[in-house]
Amino acid sequence: MPTTSEPNNPRPGPLGVSIISGEPVEPEADPFGVVCPSSGDPIPDRFHSASAGQVNDAANSAWRAFHQARDRTEDDRATMLELIARRISGMGEAITDRAHLETGLPENRLEAELNRTTSTLELFAKVVREGSWKRIAIDPPEPKRRPSPRPGIRRALVPLGPVAVFGSSNFPLAYSTAGTDAASALAAGCPVIIKGHPLHPGTGELVAQAVSGAVRDAGFPPGWFSFLHAGGGREHAVGVELIRHPCVRAAGFTGSFEGGTALARLAADRPDPIPLFAEMGSVNPVFLLPGSVETEPRGIAQHLARSISIFAGQQCTKPGLIFLVQGPTCEGCVERLVQELDATPPTPMLSAGIRQRYLRSLLRVIDTPGVRVLLGDPASIRKTSQRVPDNQPTHEKPVLLRTTEAVFVEQQVLHEEIFGPAAVIVECKDPEGMLRCAGIIQGSLTGSLFLANTDLDLAQALSGVLTMRVGRIICNGVPTGVEVGYGTVHGGPFPATNRPDTTAVGPFALERWCRPVAFQNTPPALLPPELRDENPTGRYRIVHGKLTREAVSHRRHGSAGPG
Ligand code: NAP
Repeated sequence: MPTTSEPNNPRPGPLGVSIISGEPVEPEADPFGVVCPSSGDPIPDRFHSASAGQVNDAANSAWRAFHQARDRTEDDRATMLELIARRISGMGEAITDRAHLETGLPENRLEAELNRTTSTLELFAKVVREGSWKRIAIDPPEPKRRPSPRPGIRRALVPLGPVAVFGSSNFPLAYSTAGTDAASALAAGCPVIIKGHPLHPGTGELVAQAVSGAVRDAGFPPGWFSFLHAGGGREHAVGVELIRHPCVRAAGFTGSFEGGTALARLAADRPDPIPLFAEMGSVNPVFLLPGSVETEPRGIAQHLARSISIFAGQQCTKPGLIFLVQGPTCEGCVERLVQELDATPPTPMLSAGIRQRYLRSLLRVIDTPGVRVLLGDPASIRKTSQRVPDNQPTHEKPVLLRTTEAVFVEQQVLHEEIFGPAAVIVECKDPEGMLRCAGIIQGSLTGSLFLANTDLDLAQALSGVLTMRVGRIICNGVPTGVEVGYGTVHGGPFPATNRPDTTAVGPFALERWCRPVAFQNTPPALLPPELRDENPTGRYRIVHGKLTREAVSHRRHGSAGPG
């Protein structure tokens, strides 16, 4: 079967089948469809889930490819990442148009997401070439040491093997088929098998066409990348089979708490448990300190309103809890926030299912004694939440709720993520109340502090508490919008993730797909290329316990170009 992304085909489109080892495969399972969330109209294309045999083929091919391509250099992999970025950019409009149709996300947001995806691939290519991410360390031998000679030890990170990636519904590009999990695994030297998300199967397949083409251009074995559709009767099955497959050595997930914990349990229950890195729900608390509310009520309200409501609140970093200290000055800020949110037009949610889930979680909070609705219509929320038909637009307007510190402390439901355009204001009695609340929030991706000069003491105390509870602390800014760089941390304590020791975004994400191996007294011919003396790329030498950085060399080793 030809792929529709070949240069002589002007408008690439999905074929509705999985791509295994670079080739579209024959349909074997019942087809499933997808609905456009902004209109409620079914999209005409049909997609075929991967069969159990096809899951097996993809995993076995990835395993074979991993062993066949062990001699590929860092430069080869960097070239592959750059070629992926180039192919995705080349198909940019077809990809963003399709993603717009399938997710209802606006075109300009999808263009920005596509740019972030390609620039992350390019950044990872640089990181791979530079080499220090491998944490190479060399202890030279000391044959004359007494009482016993000291052996030479060389240490580096080595890739784990094939990685399964579960893309997210809310970021069809940056956290999906060629998103941060897939890109970091490919960069680290691991073949990747994507479990496509059933809400944007066409988008996933188009990106997979681009990635498969680039893998081939870079001269890697085709099994290095596969994309499996999953939906309809095989919705959970494809993912479960992947996690259980002996050739899959690690997995990345972005989605719900239930999905992430279920898959993490499966990964841990294997006869040979594998790591699964799950990014799940996050409440992203925001603390409005008294001085800042007094000096900047209007600006803070504007920023917060946009951050809560943008893309219908379907962002893992959406601010869900807003803490302030009661008093006349905070009322102006709250009033302004209500006005700003009220002026926001209804925005489509990603699917009828996600909308229903949102309305039901919202209702649980609204029905909690001590919670007031500042913006929103509880009767309509209650009625719609009973049954959300999937042949109607999924638009929702923002909702703002308010409660007190005492209720927040008592009611567990207020501590959970509401995935949608809603936030809860928590009114604290005094600054100490803010500190008490900060100490009991669930583990989160982010925590934000709005502060003025007069707030420094309280800000310092809050920052200390938040360091234990979140992955990123933001001052005088909103949590939405993740800047990708070396310093990025997109992670946090449970339940934001199941692995607080790492990040899903930025160069440090590569380490997740590796483990350290030490080579003791090993002759050069047996060492991985990056540990040999002729390749001093990005590594550290430890002599008598003193760490020194070696000069970085950008020498190329057998780079594979297009063709
Ligand atoms: P999801 O239901 O967790 O699904 C994510 C992926 O995991 C899908 O590919 C799904 O595959 C798979 N999956 C989920 N549970 C599984 C299980 N028990 N066994 C095997 N595979 C499983 O997330 P979603 O569809 O993206 O959105 C649903 C809800 O997740 C949202 O309403 C929201 O609450 C939450 N969410 C949170 C974030 C965040 O960043 N915090 C992001 C996205 C979604 P199948 O569909 O094929 O089963």
